[in-house]
Amino acid sequence: LPHAKYPEVASLFPDLPPLHNGHPDVHLRNGVIRASQLSAAHEPDAEKAFFVADLGEIYLQHQRWVKHLPYIQPFYAIKCNPDPYVLRLLAALGSGFDCASNGEINQVLNLGNIDPSRIIFANPCKATSFIRNAGKVGVDLMTFDNADELYKVARAHPRAKLVVRILADDSKSLCAFNVKFGAALETVPMLLAKAQELNLDVVGVSFHVGSGCYDPSVYTDAIMRARTVFDMARQAGYHMNLLDVGGGFEDASFEKAAMYLTEAIERYFPDRQNLRIIAEPGRFYVSKAFSLATNIIARRAAPPSEAASGPIQATSDHPAVMYYINDGVYGAFNCILFDHQVVHPYVLSMGGSFHVASSEPLQKSSVWGPTCDSIDCVCPTTQLPRSLQVGDWLGFKNMGAYTVCAASQFNGFEVSNVVYTTGSAGVSKEVWGALAGFAAEGHGV
Ligand code: PLP
Repeated sequence: LPHAKYPEVASLFPDLPPLHNGHPDVHLRNGVIRASQLSAAHEPDAEKAFFVADLGEIYLQHQRWVKHLPYIQPFYAIKCNPDPYVLRLLAALGSGFDCASNGEINQVLNLGNIDPSRIIFANPCKATSFIRNAGKVGVDLMTFDNADELYKVARAHPRAKLVVRILADDSKSLCAFNVKFGAALETVPMLLAKAQELNLDVVGVSFHVGSGCYDPSVYTDAIMRARTVFDMARQAGYHMNLLDVGGGFEDASFEKAAMYLTEAIERYFPDRQNLRIIAEPGRFYVSKAFSLATNIIARRAAPPSEAASGPIQATSDHPAVMYYINDGVYGAFNCILFDHQVVHPYVLSMGGSFHVASSEPLQKSSVWGPTCDSIDCVCPTTQLPRSLQVGDWLGFKNMGAYTVCAASQFNGFEVSNVVYTTGSAGVSKEVWGALAGFAAEGHGV
């Protein structure tokens, strides 16, 4: 396996989980887990669900970012997936970090030798103690969208470099944020006047078009709004020099988003000499880098359709079989509830064999998580092969964003481990080179 050529790199990170976690022949290709065998059934925890993370995919996403948005520095939103290898790789690649709490700031600083200027505290409503702590550890850049926040900053961290978060059109996104964050343009002059009065430095503007943005043309309007705020700031006596274009980037529409952003920035910010542009991508970097392997721990015939309720509606094409897997909505699949995701499994093994014939007849099935709660439904209806058995494995693609980070241990089920690879993208050498460089500079050892 590719990473096996670089064992010395793995040994530089003794604090991190070992590579390949005892599944020596697992890797990813196009997001699909390839395995010729998984742990034998007699091994303890042999059937435990696990993620496969391909760090090569993250490296490639970063190359894509640099190619299409070379003038925008990413500040990876660590809330999306704070996996330690992901953070170290992105740190090695020069990314900054968007943190939302004290805990996230500490996690980034604990990577070792990360200059606090590489962090933006991008939560517009922070506890005063968190603001004070940010000041103590040297994190100056932080967002706000209301006057009370300014009073708190004036008391707890008066040297802060403030970024006003404004509303943006989030109607074309999976997860909208306007109901909770963002100043309306009409309120910005009042906020700037208050900041002046409190002797605070406002250096820029941020927005977020919503997470999982499927129509990136909304960036154009957001940039136009940011321009308006830059002009308001000039009137108020501030010379802003930071434009933060937030997150929302999707794998499938990234190039389009880059095009809209670039066009809008050229149009509304023709003079960029003293302008620094940053972004807060989360999902874009990690979504497809992680897949999840789950084991079928139980199977039963579906109850009669009259008994159906909740996620399973009584219909004539009611699923015939119910499969129970060992991760669910209280674990990795919390993305179904919190991140509005719809997931479908693919078959990793069938009848114990990892050579799955595509001609296998299918039947309507539902897939459930392992807890004793009936909300724990992973997939209310999907087509799966008839000969799928207890002990077989189901895989799920695109499981890197907003999954493991919010997983709970409800009912005593542990959060699934991560098995790391670097291989499928053919960039193992570069990934390990970056990590080795990071370690050699004295970080994270
Ligand atoms: N920035 C902020 C302030 C956020 O709240 C989020 C997501 O919640 C992000 C960035 C990351 O967004 P995305 O994963 O859509 O790129």
